[in-house]
Amino acid sequence: MARTIERTITAVHATEGGGVSIRRAFPTATLDMINPFPLLDHLGPLQVPAGEQSGFPDHPHRGFETVTYLLEGQFEHKDSFGNRGLLGPGDVQWMTAGSGLVHSEMPGPDLVKNGGTLHGFQLWVNLPRKDKMTAPRYQELKAAEIPGATAGGVSARVITGEALGRRGAVETRSPMLYVHLTIEPGAAHTQTVPRSWNVFAYHLGGEREGKLDIYDRDADDVVLTNGTTGAADVLLIGGEPIDEPVARYGPFVMNSREELVQAAQDFQSGKMGHI
Ligand code: FE
Repeated sequence: MARTIERTITAVHATEGGGVSIRRAFPTATLDMINPFPLLDHLGPLQVPAGEQSGFPDHPHRGFETVTYLLEGQFEHKDSFGNRGLLGPGDVQWMTAGSGLVHSEMPGPDLVKNGGTLHGFQLWVNLPRKDKMTAPRYQELKAAEIPGATAGGVSARVITGEALGRRGAVETRSPMLYVHLTIEPGAAHTQTVPRSWNVFAYHLGGEREGKLDIYDRDADDVVLTNGTTGAADVLLIGGEPIDEPVARYGPFVMNSREELVQAAQDFQSGKMGHI
């Protein structure tokens, strides 16, 4: 039995950070979140002219994780704990914001110097109450450290969870899957997941670019087919929903309004630090 697609949504154009054009799969007016994921943004692909510095300048986070997956270009990250990182094509940064930090995400020095294409994704992963105030942590994976496999016209890059017999290296606080699939025309991929998981597929190229398919929890198998004439690139993401109240405001995702107020106060009073 294969899960049915409960609904399909089209990502909407939005402007974020310092004037960066993105497509937002969710949250939108029609879809608040896909538990346990509060947000999915598709950045680009956009042409960055040489000298252009627009990105996501200093801002805080608390109560969840941000996952940046870069396909093209270069992204530089700095935070209020003195961490600094550079992401290149195929690299992943899985950041646990936990109790909070201030960070910036900007085009890297090579991209600023020479210009080029910037293309990537940011996924937010909610944390359960018991982990919201955990210490911030980074898991950075270079493209070469992300397990890949190819079988029957399907290629997978496994960021976390398991696909085509390979297991991703990222450790998560609740069970989940994040796989980048490339499916050749006529090929199909079957992903078996726990019945309780929410699962969605975001199409990042080809005829269905920008479409988000949300699967019903009516079977264990998610079956992706490609009936088009070109290769289909898909992010297949899923996880166990967190059965807790969600209170969110801007860069904070907590359990209650009081905790949001506290987060804003802690940021304003400098408790999350400065870059
Ligand atoms: Fe951020």
